[in-house]
Amino acid sequence: MNKSFFLKAATSVAFFVSASAMAQQAPLPVSENTIKNAAMLRDKALKSDSAYEILEALTTEVGPRLGGSDKEAEAIQWAIKRLNDLGFDKVYTEPVMVEKWQRISERASIVSPYTQPLHITALGKSAATPKGGVTAEIVHIPTYEALLAADPAKIEGKIVFISNRMERHKTGKGYGPAVQARGKGASEAARKGAKAIIIRSIGTDSHRLPHTGGVNYEEDAPKIAAAALSNPDADQLERMLKRSKPITMHLDVQTKFHGEVEMANVIGEITGREKPDEVVLIGGHLDSWDLGTGAIDDGAGVALTVAAANMIQDTLQMRPRKTIRVVLFSAEELGIIGAKAYAKAHEADIDKHVIGAESDFGAGPIWALASKVSTDSAHVIDKMAQIMGPLGVVRSARKAYGGPDIGEVGKLGMPAVDLMQDGTDYFDLHHTADDTLDKVNPEHLRQNLAAWVVFTYIAAEWPGDFR
Ligand SMILES: [Zn+2]
Repeated sequence: MNKSFFLKAATSVAFFVSASAMAQQAPLPVSENTIKNAAMLRDKALKSDSAYEILEALTTEVGPRLGGSDKEAEAIQWAIKRLNDLGFDKVYTEPVMVEKWQRISERASIVSPYTQPLHITALGKSAATPKGGVTAEIVHIPTYEALLAADPAKIEGKIVFISNRMERHKTGKGYGPAVQARGKGASEAARKGAKAIIIRSIGTDSHRLPHTGGVNYEEDAPKIAAAALSNPDADQLERMLKRSKPITMHLDVQTKFHGEVEMANVIGEITGREKPDEVVLIGGHLDSWDLGTGAIDDGAGVALTVAAANMIQDTLQMRPRKTIRVVLFSAEELGIIGAKAYAKAHEADIDKHVIGAESDFGAGPIWALASKVSTDSAHVIDKMAQIMGPLGVVRSARKAYGGPDIGEVGKLGMPAVDLMQDGTDYFDLHHTADDTLDKVNPEHLRQNLAAWVVFTYIAAEWPGDFR
């Protein structure tokens, strides 16, 4: 054995070791067969009205389903039956405690000087005014920040009117800044002595339909009634305030709290063939506001995720490697209550949730795919986006958050993707009586379903780890 041979052998051993180390760390590819199946599912979804059929059934047979109400209980029974009828491998529920709130009546009018009625809706979970309502001067505050800065002497004994206007945007980014007035305005106004609060609707339409949505009372403030004016009525009130002061309003909001009731998250599973305890988590929320029939918020998300799992199950010869779990969350609108209960109940097995995604942004087409996954698995999401390419979907560099419900599990470390929908028109309808089935374009729903089957199938079939 000469020296040169020894050197050569040593180098080749060294090379061999480092190559095998590299092989262990190299990104695990998406197999050709998986890609072929995903494309086939995509094309099938583009011809399928299965999501629309589920959405039509939910909005017609159940309709409005306010969290904690008898209608939500009815929706839960409806969903259990539907998932069983569709042949899901496992259907079960997990309990969720929800405070039951009831809208009874809501009325507002200007009593001086420009006497006329206004179109309003009580915000969700609003306290009632005293019986017979309140009559008080309006104090105009442009934004929540201006309310924080306002002198209590200007607020005391009055009805606060916050007039901030939500901006229209494809991503819905106008919602966050505007919605503070709805969520936090009431407690801040009450701390400064207001009798009630009325806000411009958090919405982008010009119809005379006010937008409801949750108000969050803080413990240290009195609970005053909170309502939203339709956007044309908010414009009207602003014109009045420019012409004359004081403007006096009569506001009568009657609501009732009934204490805690037991609702449930409804869960359907397609059991994984190889790693049944590892879960791809998808879903939407089953509850809706009480004004419309909850077609876009969030009947569409329920229908899409149920239809996607069901199509994978019905189309392929074999179950995907990992389990697909569809969760239809309870009482999202009242404070993400069902998702918080889910995250708590699954604290110990969060590690088994391999990735998650939610559909809760209406029924507009999907245009981008964002992710929050490890660097080593980002190529899998790239591949998903590539297969979704013919649907008009691009890969987004934005960090995904997983949606309002699934995001609760995301916060505990589960990787997530966002199938980003075009929300340009979403806030025209959001939380109004106009959230009805006729607003849903069946073609857009098929496009959504096509993207959802690609994501869900590849996520459940790819053997690697997104963490
Ligand atoms: Zn929603």
